[in-house]
Amino acid sequence: MTKDPDDLVAMGLVEPRRVEEIRRVAAEYAVALTQDMADLIYPADSGDPIAAQFVPTAAELADLPEERPDPIGDERWSPMPGIVHRYPDRVLLKPTLLCPVYCRFCFRREVVGKKEAMLDRAALERAFDYVRQRPQIWEVIVSGGDPLLLGPRRIAEIVRALDQIPHLGVIRFHTRIPVVDPRRVSSALVDALAAEKAVYVVIHANHPRELTVPARAAFLRLSRAGIPLLSQTVLLRGVNDDPAVLEVLFRGLVAMRVKPYYLHQVDLARGTAHFRTGIAAGQRLVRALRGRVSGLCQPIYVLDIPGGYGKVPIGPCAIFRDGASGAWIVQDRAGIGHSYPPDPGDEAA
Ligand SMILES: *Cc1c(COP(=O)(O)O)cnc(C)c1O
Ligand code: SF4
Repeated sequence: MTKDPDDLVAMGLVEPRRVEEIRRVAAEYAVALTQDMADLIYPADSGDPIAAQFVPTAAELADLPEERPDPIGDERWSPMPGIVHRYPDRVLLKPTLLCPVYCRFCFRREVVGKKEAMLDRAALERAFDYVRQRPQIWEVIVSGGDPLLLGPRRIAEIVRALDQIPHLGVIRFHTRIPVVDPRRVSSALVDALAAEKAVYVVIHANHPRELTVPARAAFLRLSRAGIPLLSQTVLLRGVNDDPAVLEVLFRGLVAMRVKPYYLHQVDLARGTAHFRTGIAAGQRLVRALRGRVSGLCQPIYVLDIPGGYGKVPIGPCAIFRDGASGAWIVQDRAGIGHSYPPDPGDEAA
């Protein structure tokens, strides 16, 4: 639920002397965290990875020239309210811009939790029509905001409407609810997700401490209903930019039947510089993981290109071409190169 800076002080999450700076941040960006997340925070730890994600700090007031209000160019690809259509075969549908928590690094921080956050019935119907009229759309990604913040009845209406569009193959939900407010994943909510078509749920988790017993139970309710679970993680300085932390997180997710899907380079949203690791550091982390954990635990490290050009893998490359011979040089997990013969029929590189 939305938190007033005074509530954060009362909860012991913010020292009274910081309340003024928090007020200035809250005037600019939405603030909320759930009781489940508040309970995970050790207030005495100034580097607490859960607090860092949800409790505002004065660092957010510093904007850098490379930061943008719309870092991934949603606006450019939005033909109507609630729809972002950047790739031919899939669209984002954003029925709400409210979230149960407001992540301090959010790429949509300029729009989430603000006024006019809900798509009304007529606008939602226009969004469905947009999808119905375009047979090239194969997948609808219900995002936001957090779509599982809607009541089960609204969710069921959305699922039912999408399930009836013949050319759709997949309905995908992106949500933080199973992690940050797991009790909200009730049997009514799980029933609301039932469809003939494949329904996937992608959860957002950044630190192993978020994988609580109630979160695990929520994942289990979803997977028992036949819903494949994937996860996305944002690479965050001071939260999870450590191979040991990522290893425990990804192993934990896989052991709870959640397949790590994307590891995101944090986007260039305003006031988020303190969260960014460099891409070279990200590649080192990914390479370290590659050597030590199961392939099931390896997400794809991606960057959403600023300006709306889409997501691309930016993980370390293990294969190079030897210019003279055209042979490939492949690096093993220890970094030792091995040659692989040139491809017959290929012109020399
Ligand atoms: C991230 C995103 C998607 C989904 O991309 P996948 O690579 O399929 O997960 C779709 N549309 C938009 C606008 C996005 O930002
Ligand atoms: S849950 Fe997602 S959309 Fe909501 S604040 Fe966090 S990153 Fe942004």
